[in-house]
Amino acid sequence: MAKHDTLQPGDMIGILGSGQLGRMLAMAAAQLGLRTHVYAPDSGPAFDVSAQATQAPYDDETRLAAFLETVSVVTYEFENVPAATAAFVAARRPVRPGAKALAITQDRLTEKTFLNELGIPTAPFAQVDDVPGLAAAVSGLGIPAILKTRRFGYDGKGQILVQAGADLSTVFEAIGAHPSILEGLVRFRSEVSVIGARGLEGEFAAFDVCENEHANHILSRTTAPARISPATAREAIEMTGRIAAALDYVGVITVEMFVVDDTRGDTGRERLVVNEIAPRVHNSGHWTLDGAFTSQFEQHVRAICGWPLGSTQRHGRIDMRNLIGAEALSWRHLLGEPTARLHLYGKHEARPGRKMGHVTRILPDREKHRENGD
Ligand code: AMP
Repeated sequence: MAKHDTLQPGDMIGILGSGQLGRMLAMAAAQLGLRTHVYAPDSGPAFDVSAQATQAPYDDETRLAAFLETVSVVTYEFENVPAATAAFVAARRPVRPGAKALAITQDRLTEKTFLNELGIPTAPFAQVDDVPGLAAAVSGLGIPAILKTRRFGYDGKGQILVQAGADLSTVFEAIGAHPSILEGLVRFRSEVSVIGARGLEGEFAAFDVCENEHANHILSRTTAPARISPATAREAIEMTGRIAAALDYVGVITVEMFVVDDTRGDTGRERLVVNEIAPRVHNSGHWTLDGAFTSQFEQHVRAICGWPLGSTQRHGRIDMRNLIGAEALSWRHLLGEPTARLHLYGKHEARPGRKMGHVTRILPDREKHRENGD
């Protein structure tokens, strides 16, 4: 590894995006004696905790160039970094994770094709560019199915359930007539995610697989460990490592998966279907701040600095809940709960659907409990 690829304490990390993920990355960097410079079009929670902040559009090359002068490496807290911005930055500083991860994960069609080429199962899907294309996809995959825009979807935005008897022109208009994919509906038993990290030299470490519940398309609760067999958990982590290696990945990667009953083989078996890759730290990994030796944020900072990865060992049974909108108003009550760890993102307005903070509760591991005769 070339010396200039690794950072030293005191060096500055550039972060594109100013939300809560950027904020928690900046805080983890500070703990390790690193400084951060956040660049974003809007001032957000990350601005409050960074040594430097630039509020400017992603296509302002003068401001971007000045930002890059101050940093040794650039990372991002969201996958929709415009391609031109990513190219401008990559020509001047190392970007981690790199261009391949961004290009593949920004587009659901490219992402699913990439996964299938790696031999990793996804929901069945078909490309949809227009209404006749949607009709063809519906007759190929059957309904119900989900129409999703290829780009810029998050928290359920840019997707619509296609039901029997639906008027397909209305459905296609409803998602803005954007290039899309139609996905077969997966009858899942549960949803899980793997938060893994790949270092500069290809080393890989993952946290225990966690289980996710959504409400109104937004993550509401994450528990760890996920209620899956040890073999399924190993497979989930192995898949994530394979995906990271194929993307030449550096940093934390999140892979969201469905757990489905395997009706093909023995009864009671389960299998995994990958839903989505996020080339970044993830809401379902927030529990690692309090529930693991190294948090996902510290792990990401270590990886992009070319530093050794930390231990991913879990401290106990985890229950992380997002505080959405007015739920954050219970902060005073939560502060009084002895096993609850409260995180607030410093957002001023508790708008409905807005992620304001999260609370993690840690309980003793059941096995350890029994060993101790409790
Ligand atoms: P996504 O934006 O693709 O992560 O989807 C958001 C949520 O919608 C997922 O976490 C699932 O709960 C649900 N979902 C997405 N795609 C499918 C699918 N093909 N089958 C069943 N549920 C899905």
